[in-house]
Amino acid sequence: MEAKIKNTPARLAITQLFENTDSPIDIEQIIAFLRSKKLKTNKVTVYRIVDFLYKNEIINRLEFGEGKFRYEVKKEDHHHLVCSNCDVVEDVSDVFIDKFEKDIAKKGFLVKSHSLEFFGLCKNCQL
Ligand SMILES: [Zn+2]
Ligand SMILES: [Zn+2]
Repeated sequence: MEAKIKNTPARLAITQLFENTDSPIDIEQIIAFLRSKKLKTNKVTVYRIVDFLYKNEIINRLEFGEGKFRYEVKKEDHHHLVCSNCDVVEDVSDVFIDKFEKDIAKKGFLVKSHSLEFFGLCKNCQL
């Protein structure tokens, strides 16, 4: 049975964090944020809240081959730039995917979702 999630300060803070962050974040970053807000928390609680937001389709879960999940608030179609040197993942908006999906539809394939990542070095890591 699933535990009920109340509107605790931790949950409100996490929801706010997602709304104000425009790149995918991981559990460690969420915990660091809660600590900076002096909110008492632990990993289990954070996982439970994130799981709740994910199941209620408020956030998306992403995987970039880092051995961990990242999460971001659901928003319009976009892709990700993953720096292979530091921990940075950036959003990049998309103008082509509509056409691309139409081409795929012509093949008779029904697209339900997609994921596109570009791996490389962020601005800072190229210096
Ligand atoms: Zn980097
Ligand atoms: Zn994103």
